[in-house]
Amino acid sequence: MAHPPQLTPEQRAAALAQATLSRRTRADVKKGVRQGTLTIADVLELAKSDPAIAKMRVLELLESVPGVGRIRALAIVERLGISVPRKIQGLGIHQRASLLQEFTSQPLGRGRLIVLSGPGGVGKSTVANALRKSSDFWVSISATTRQPRANEVDGVDYYFLTQEEFDRRIADDEFLEWASFAGARYGTPAKPVEDALARGRNVLLEIEIEGARQVRSHSAEALLVFLEPPSWEDLVSRLEGRGSDSPERRAHRLELAQTELAAAKEFDVIVINDQVDKVVQALLSLARSSST
Ligand code: ADP
Ligand code: 5GP
Repeated sequence: MAHPPQLTPEQRAAALAQATLSRRTRADVKKGVRQGTLTIADVLELAKSDPAIAKMRVLELLESVPGVGRIRALAIVERLGISVPRKIQGLGIHQRASLLQEFTSQPLGRGRLIVLSGPGGVGKSTVANALRKSSDFWVSISATTRQPRANEVDGVDYYFLTQEEFDRRIADDEFLEWASFAGARYGTPAKPVEDALARGRNVLLEIEIEGARQVRSHSAEALLVFLEPPSWEDLVSRLEGRGSDSPERRAHRLELAQTELAAAKEFDVIVINDQVDKVVQALLSLARSSST
């Protein structure tokens, strides 16, 4: 047996760093497939120029396709004559062609993903609650580590999680996006969003700005809507009128709101929340006019 090459500590460190980078690339690709931003055809194309992707197992790739999972992925590779350990770089011409054929039929009538963001207190959750009553939208339920307010119900307003459970979900890549805001963490569970879009439902995410940026960076299909108050005075009075935050938390939120308002220009559309009904109508017409 040939002796393994003797590596210097520097070479060993470089090899380890490269392996970590390759694993991260593959995890990103799987995430993209899971979220519907990358198709199988895209991944096979990317693998031509990226050795880390070329080394991904076909089975692993197929398992990331929404609605496939391990059992169906095993059945597909068996039917297409692809061995379980086969990597993308080892696929023959006919195997590539049959894989592409298997996955080119895109789901028809995919729903529209709309992200509603804006400064705290502008009225995002009021608008989201109004939209929950409409059959035109499915409104995502976020997870958070903050304490429930009076009247908030677990599984209806939020999934209230412990820090440990939130950490686990991050580690298992279960969030479409997540961010820290005013001392707590908030995240959008990815799977229900993907399932609703695949079923043709329009999906609304009501999230703060950092989360909206994350959705933009890995989802080309999302339409980003920024909700603005009619004036700064309206924002202050809405935050103060809500009365559910402590004075310290309210002061912190006002400070944050100034930075948040400056992010409006990063969004696709700005809607002014002077009347909740008008905002709801604007979102409904955006979903209709931009649906494919
Ligand atoms: P956010 O979710 O953006 O933090 P909320 O939905 O909690 O904001 O709204 C903050 C406060 O503003 C609430 O008391 C809500 O009733 C009030 N509000 C929301 N929209 C309007 C509006 N168009 N006009 C007047 N008050 C509003
Ligand atoms: P609140 O504590 O007032 O319910 O929400 C605080 C902020 O967190 C709001 O701006 C709200 O839009 C945002 N938020 C709620 N859910 C999510 C989420 O899943 N992800 C992100 N990034 N922000 C969220």
